[in-house]
Amino acid sequence: MTATMTPAQATPGFALDPERVRTWAELVVCSREPEHFEVRTPMSGEVIATLPLSTPEDAERAVTAARSSQKRWAATTFEARRDILLRFHDLLLDGQSELLDLVQLESGKARSQAHEEVADTAIVARHYALTAEKTLRPRRRAGAYPVLTQSIESYLPKGVVGIVSPWNYPLSLAITDAIPALMAGNAVVLRPDMQGSLTALAVVHLLHEAGLPDGALEVVLGRGSTVGNAVLEHADYVCFTGSTATGRRIAQAAGERLVGCSMELGGKNSLYVAADADLDRAVPGAVRACFASAGQLCISTERVIVHEKVYDAFVPRFAAAAAALRMGSALTYGYDLGSLASAEQLEAVTRHVDDAVAKGATVLSGGRPRPDLGPFAYEATVLSGVTAEMACRNEETFGPVVSVYRVASDDEAVALANDTEYGLNASVWTRDVRRGRALAARIRTGTVNINEGYAAAWGSVAAPMGGMKASGIGRRHGDEGILRFTESQNVTAQRLLPIAPVFGMDDEKFAKTLTSALRALKAARRA
Ligand code: NAD
Repeated sequence: MTATMTPAQATPGFALDPERVRTWAELVVCSREPEHFEVRTPMSGEVIATLPLSTPEDAERAVTAARSSQKRWAATTFEARRDILLRFHDLLLDGQSELLDLVQLESGKARSQAHEEVADTAIVARHYALTAEKTLRPRRRAGAYPVLTQSIESYLPKGVVGIVSPWNYPLSLAITDAIPALMAGNAVVLRPDMQGSLTALAVVHLLHEAGLPDGALEVVLGRGSTVGNAVLEHADYVCFTGSTATGRRIAQAAGERLVGCSMELGGKNSLYVAADADLDRAVPGAVRACFASAGQLCISTERVIVHEKVYDAFVPRFAAAAAALRMGSALTYGYDLGSLASAEQLEAVTRHVDDAVAKGATVLSGGRPRPDLGPFAYEATVLSGVTAEMACRNEETFGPVVSVYRVASDDEAVALANDTEYGLNASVWTRDVRRGRALAARIRTGTVNINEGYAAAWGSVAAPMGGMKASGIGRRHGDEGILRFTESQNVTAQRLLPIAPVFGMDDEKFAKTLTSALRALKAARRA
């Protein structure tokens, strides 16, 4: 089976308004006469803009500038920060058309999937705007001596948070970590991927329009290994999203400096179709889970595990639905599968598929590049017969390639889901949600979606999201997603009596009195 033939609708001659590009470029911290780089769209390969390049020295300068603005920003009230973010929320939704164009032009993804980024960013902005004050409110804690010791836990900003974001979600990954960092009173220095720079600058510009003061969020542009590295080397907290290999190196450097870090890394995510799954929902759900953003999504599915009772009913329908996806590159709704983001991505995807086929895997659908639809377009590909010798069994493909596996029991499915170094996301399809939750508790991933592929858990931003095992350290979203950008501080006042012998007691008498008090507290179940 092959993907539906749709006439190529790339965007020849698509030109960005040079005035807009100039406005965005003014946000970049760089020298007076910087070098420039070309931004090309993977939709057609054309140059769509040139942007200034920062140097590692500029990155250091940006961190210093952010550090000096941070105190002023931290002195603003939660209410003021909330108002900025709620205005940003509205500007984002009102101005989505331009942002959707930019996301598509820089990533090549279909417009509906670009819209997921707009929605995600709005959800995160609303959530932290409305919850940060409550989460970060100072809290009374039980003191060492009841009544006499008064302890308060509070949360101070880390200072300057350094963010390095990848190319695959150029809007939401550039800004949704910055939002809680800013709400917590930090300044931010952002180094977006070079192939996501326009989108990142446009969204930062919107934040300024919403009232964010200068200096609270600085942007530098350039290569990760030089400019990104310089940001993270000087920041007070390191926030990285990218591959596990790079994440390990960055976490090591943060460890050396003893600064905190969160690492949102790779995955080899599974989706289990249980014997009682509703296949009418599971088939389109699995297609969305596997092929959203052409599989260039850290939480997308690369392994579909199917119970033998439904294997023969599910797999042909799934392969047919993958083949029927509407492929094409255009700045309009109506396509399901856009382009891969780059020549490197096309090369990696082709390598995994060719390797699997050479070693005996069967192509159930797709399996071919589609130069007629764009220089880096590749079909939605379903493989069976994938074994451990094939690169795509264990390595993250990060593309529209999925393998299907037959299992005889839930236990076998859980074992297979956990048989990976990664632990990012999983999905379980069953008519019995309680059973789904019981299975989820046995799967070692940071999120498990029941009867949805990834969007349910990802979009539920009041709960944390992140990776176990080689998929990362720390969590974004939820309380953890903002607390990571703070230092907790315990300020405790002692009243009336010291924590020492009193009234002429000797040490032995004091130790005995304290021992009796400890026994009494335990008997009274006082924590
Ligand atoms: P990558 O690690 O090669 O690069 C990620 C980013 O880090 C890029 O912008 C790169 O320029 C930068 N970088 C590289 N070396 C650096 C260094 N020494 N210091 C600072 N920055 C540096 O990853 P990639 O292949 O470009 O991105 C895809 C990967 O990201 C996949 O593995 C995917 O699963 C992962 N990802 C994870 C999440 C998540 O939330 N867990 C989200 C999106 C992507």
